[in-house]
Amino acid sequence: MENFPGFPNGILGPELMEEMHKQAERFGTQFIYDNAESVDLTKRPFTITTSSEQIITDTLIIGTGASAKLLGLDSESKLMGHGVSACATCDGFFFRDKTVFVVGGGDTALEEATFLTRFATSVTVIHRREGFRASAIMADRAKQNPKVKFILNSVVEDINDVEKGEVTSIRIRNIITNEVQELPADGVFIAIGHQPNTDLFKGQIELTDTGYIVTDGVKTSVKGVFASGDVQDELYKQAITAAGTGCMAALEAQWLLENEEGQEQAEQKKTLASPVANPN
Ligand code: NAP
Repeated sequence: MENFPGFPNGILGPELMEEMHKQAERFGTQFIYDNAESVDLTKRPFTITTSSEQIITDTLIIGTGASAKLLGLDSESKLMGHGVSACATCDGFFFRDKTVFVVGGGDTALEEATFLTRFATSVTVIHRREGFRASAIMADRAKQNPKVKFILNSVVEDINDVEKGEVTSIRIRNIITNEVQELPADGVFIAIGHQPNTDLFKGQIELTDTGYIVTDGVKTSVKGVFASGDVQDELYKQAITAAGTGCMAALEAQWLLENEEGQEQAEQKKTLASPVANPN
């Protein structure tokens, strides 16, 4: 990761996660490694059922993220992180003076293609049809960039070379003429959209039409449930914005609990002071 503040020379994603884990542990965070199989957010306290236990909680912060949609090629998953990437902002830096391809025709693909021209010598967008889903302004910007080329009406059929463990070329097919060609490549960026990981919460919490959690700040439609990171962020999708909303959600949860605790104590004081509870 080249754009997380505090790491002038960049840091590997897993390494950053490990450091954050250790830091959270130092503050007493307990970790449970399990799959949440279902949640009940219809009443407070909420219930989270994992494969081995039921967790009851007064507050919940959802940070299940969004997964990049992939083409579904075997070679794509095998070369992920070895020349195939789903995030130009994170990995673009590693493709200085290289030949890269961006798959997709939406705003992300064209934005990433334009961004990648800062590093790569050649950036080619491969899109499965003639027209772009991207906004006109984003498409124009990419088209006007002399370093961006386009191959339209085409799909990626395979990425080579799994055996070498690096990207050396891609095989593409024109879906109109059926012509197949193999093009030398150093990197392939898949930019065909993201899928928020919200299946677990469907029907219990308000979601956008595209499946992201609707938030006001980090508050969801259910009191006591907060959401942070990509699961509620269709726009920025950066580690630093996710970390920021994670901090906001933690503070909101803390304030809610403190507030309720304070109210409870005030209620208890009121009851003790009342003539019925304290006849003397
Ligand atoms: P998107 O708008 O859903 O576009 C996905 C693109 O990938 C489409 O062109 C689609 O082709 C193509 N695609 C989907 N599945 C494919 C497959 N299996 N094989 C080949 N191509 C495939 O996703 P996005 O570009 O990530 O944008 C998501 C949202 O974020 C949009 O609302 C976008 O406007 C917004 N966004 C905004 C900005 C900005 O304003 N700066 C930047 C990035 C994203 P078809 O067109 O043929 O369906």
